[in-house]
Amino acid sequence: MNETNASDAALEVIGLHKRFGNIDVLKGVSLSAHTGNVISIIGSSGSGKSTLLRCVNLLESPNEGRIRFDGEELQLKATPAGLVTSNAKQLQRLRAGVGFVFQSFNLWPHMTILENIIEAPIHVKGVPRRDAVASAEALLAKVGLSERRDFYPNHLSGGQQQRAAIARCLAMEPKVLLFDEPTSALDPELVSEVLQVIRSLAEEGRTMLIVTHEMRFAREVSSHIMFLHQGQVEEFGPPSQVFTAPKSERCRQFLENHLN
Ligand code: ADP
Ligand code: MG
Repeated sequence: MNETNASDAALEVIGLHKRFGNIDVLKGVSLSAHTGNVISIIGSSGSGKSTLLRCVNLLESPNEGRIRFDGEELQLKATPAGLVTSNAKQLQRLRAGVGFVFQSFNLWPHMTILENIIEAPIHVKGVPRRDAVASAEALLAKVGLSERRDFYPNHLSGGQQQRAAIARCLAMEPKVLLFDEPTSALDPELVSEVLQVIRSLAEEGRTMLIVTHEMRFAREVSSHIMFLHQGQVEEFGPPSQVFTAPKSERCRQFLENHLN
């Protein structure tokens, strides 16, 4: 990939601002994810990591900034509630093309794992049921859940639920995946099975933004590390640089406190 040409980016955010009331939570965050980049976003609680991810696919309305996804700039217009899009087709392309994996899994509890996975392909994309089921079965095999296809979410462990949530996300064939602390709600013994699935996605060359506190994992799988501090990018670079010679003293201290 040509790293110098910004228009190549699968996802680009320019000068993003977000305020809640009179608190500036994001103060001009920019980032460019090229195809195959894995960008881990690290930083203290409250630094704006979740807000950044949520603004990217417009789960939150930013107050200022530009977002380009898959070569297309989002048509945002200012309202009292922030920037919104009135282009429903574009919003649908964004939501279908950017998968979001939440800390709390967010599977639909009244549907089996298989039904969770085929729901959006059938009802949003219009994929024939038989094809959606075939794809879902392949995804279940990929995340190691073939035997659980007809279970309901509450009969699965947290690690299994999160792997199912990842499969559900992949079923939409997203161009970019966003993970917001995907292992933070898990018992410690279940963390590695989920990280292993995410690692395999990185190895496939998927484009991902991952908010995580798993520093060893971030160091291993990421092409880039972004350290956010109070709504600003305080450090950005390849893991080899950020983990060994961060320019920011705050970033160095954060890593020291979290690498153990
Ligand atoms: P992080 O994910 O890095 O812990 P967040 O993005 O969740 O940080 O939050 C950043 C700041 O924005 C925090 O101070 C938080 O309290 C505030 N915040 C987040 N969401 C809302 C909201 N919906 N309303 C008001 N304040 C919010
Ligand atoms: Mg968060």
